[in-house]
Amino acid sequence: MDSIITYSLRTSVSSSDKYYTEISKFTEDVLYKINESAYSLIKDYQEYVIKSKHEAVRTTEEYGLEILTLGVLWKTYIRNAVVLGKIPQKLLVTLVGLRTKGNVVKITTDYIRGKLATGILLNKINCKDKIIKNTKDLDKLIKWLSAAGDFKDEVKRLDNWKEYFDNKVNSEVTANIETILKLAEWFESESRERLGSYTKNVDNFLKNSYGSHRGKEDIIYCGRKEVEYHLNMVGAEILNNVFRQEFLKTEEKMVLLPACMRYDGGRVCKAINTAKGYICANCTQGCGINKLTAIGKKYNFKVYIIPHESTAFSKEKVSYGKVGIIGVACVLNLISGGWKAKDIGFVPQCVLLEYSGCKKHWHKNGITTEINISKLINTFKDNNKMVGES
Ligand code: SF4
Repeated sequence: MDSIITYSLRTSVSSSDKYYTEISKFTEDVLYKINESAYSLIKDYQEYVIKSKHEAVRTTEEYGLEILTLGVLWKTYIRNAVVLGKIPQKLLVTLVGLRTKGNVVKITTDYIRGKLATGILLNKINCKDKIIKNTKDLDKLIKWLSAAGDFKDEVKRLDNWKEYFDNKVNSEVTANIETILKLAEWFESESRERLGSYTKNVDNFLKNSYGSHRGKEDIIYCGRKEVEYHLNMVGAEILNNVFRQEFLKTEEKMVLLPACMRYDGGRVCKAINTAKGYICANCTQGCGINKLTAIGKKYNFKVYIIPHESTAFSKEKVSYGKVGIIGVACVLNLISGGWKAKDIGFVPQCVLLEYSGCKKHWHKNGITTEINISKLINTFKDNNKMVGES
């Protein structure tokens, strides 16, 4: 494998098994800490959701992940958010919306977005005194995230929290935001300690390679901080645990693979386009997608290649509980992918790419990416069943 770009789950040449053991233990500790710091806030929010009926109530673990996300994103972007003007914000949101209007429009809007995002969204204040921990600043954070375009599902979750805080007095909101920020602070230092060995090239990438993304559409995506990688690693583990049993009960199961997993030996991939994604045509024996397609026949799941995360799901809702999907993705897309899949009606699970390498964002020639196949196969097995049960 080429040198690590930002993260790698492998501590030895070919195995990420240690990562999966460590992330499981660390996630347990994170959930314990969330409960210790914010249990009453989460319970109060859960009751609010039940009364307001704006969504089917979720588990305390999911809401715990939401406040951790709020805390991490606040700490990372609030200084950018408070200086974003109304007009550029609206313009950027309009451009984000135009991306779905077909290829030519997308190419043009992405070009303009890249220039504007670099010139506007990266501006920030140095003085923390101008930040007020209230719903107005929360609103500014949500608006900045909407303008960035990479946080659609995070924005949906945070909008609900803003509505909840709108019904509280200012002093209570400030106290709650302070609790959330302390939790995020703990998470940042603890996750660096426990997961930093998997993300040791992120800072290096930001210092030495990130500059080449200036003016490009992925200026925000590729500039994500180390703590956001850790948040996604823990978030993926939380969501996998929450949905695991429901996933096992689904009638139909699919695995969605990114195109960067295809064999890249100069041959043109012959995959066939279908309504759900591309299906492998088995043109190359050594291709990772070809291997997983064969494994799918044995374990009864279908494999689809998804050219880009934004095209991963159709917009049509499906009846929740019937279809289980395993999204295979780069670390930074894990939480949003899980939330998006759940909103559409899929029962989600995810497996992380062992490292990033796509041509679009990370490597000028592209590196063929891989996953931990045992981890994928285990996702289809019910480990709680006694020997002899089918
Ligand atoms: S084996 Fe399948 S996924 Fe791999 S290059 Fe051929 S058609 Fe594409």
